[in-house]
Amino acid sequence: MILFSHWKRIAAIMMGAPSLARLCFRAKGGKPQHCVSLLSRVALAGLLLLAPLTLPAQTHFNGAKALDYARQFVAIGPRWPTSQGHQKAEEFLRGQFKHDQLEEDTFTASTPIGPVPMRNFIVRFPGKKNGVIVLATHYETNYPLKNINFVGANDGASTTGLLLTIADQLRGRTLDGYSVWLVFFDGEEAFQTWSKSDSTYGSRHLAAKWGRDGTLGKIRAFILADMIGDKDLDIQRETQSTGWLVDLVRQAAHKFGYDRNFFQTEESVEDDHLAFVDRGVPSIDVIDLDYGPNNSYHHTAQDTLDKISARSLTIDGDVFMETIRLIDLR
Ligand SMILES: [Zn+2]
Repeated sequence: MILFSHWKRIAAIMMGAPSLARLCFRAKGGKPQHCVSLLSRVALAGLLLLAPLTLPAQTHFNGAKALDYARQFVAIGPRWPTSQGHQKAEEFLRGQFKHDQLEEDTFTASTPIGPVPMRNFIVRFPGKKNGVIVLATHYETNYPLKNINFVGANDGASTTGLLLTIADQLRGRTLDGYSVWLVFFDGEEAFQTWSKSDSTYGSRHLAAKWGRDGTLGKIRAFILADMIGDKDLDIQRETQSTGWLVDLVRQAAHKFGYDRNFFQTEESVEDDHLAFVDRGVPSIDVIDLDYGPNNSYHHTAQDTLDKISARSLTIDGDVFMETIRLIDLR
């Protein structure tokens, strides 16, 4: 059908059929008609002939750029709380957002190793609609893994790279939809053994603070990205996540043909979204907790750059950007 009408159009231009052959244009307001010459017709027909070959493919998110950010972040080395690497990671984020609306949310966490200074980063990109979409990740690495050179290429760095690339797409204009806030949590990982009190320090702190000052009421959706740089991307449907938000992410993935990467299995995961779920904020944890054979790369020295891919980050970025669009339309 498409090809047929395309050829018909080319033939019409060449043969001078009345509807198309003269190719005259008139601007609104009665300016003189402008007609295309026979020579231009030949050129135009040539262009149309080439058109099916030169039409750009669907524009995709720049996963290569996200991977490059992850590479830079991993190059800092391990970034467990209280380490020099953690300070360098903070400086890196500060540098990336120096021209943006950046807030540093500092607090002291009570941990099994004593009080630990922590810092969440919040970057705000204003929109025209009243309300906020939060995209979040954590950026630090695990304190208990400080002796194995654990760099968290997937766990922390890949999603930091993803959000940095999303920031590149959002900055420099007022968004047509909701404001988008990017949040980089500190202290997601446990200091000893994962429990409600020894984990997710940054998100529990921020959710409580935003509960007290009324910010939570503005949040239309909270979307958490965790461990989704994995080359073998199989994102689970996290069962405590909000149903309609899961459906929108599924719909976004389907648009790009990424169905097999999303929600083929279900799992309940404790993560930075729960402090928001518990306070009634529509939330989703977009997580792939199946990392390496029998999950053998998770929280091991194997979590290195070669295990993550630009392709997976393209998939994530496409789906996140489309999900934002769908939430804006809601
Ligand atoms: Zn982790």
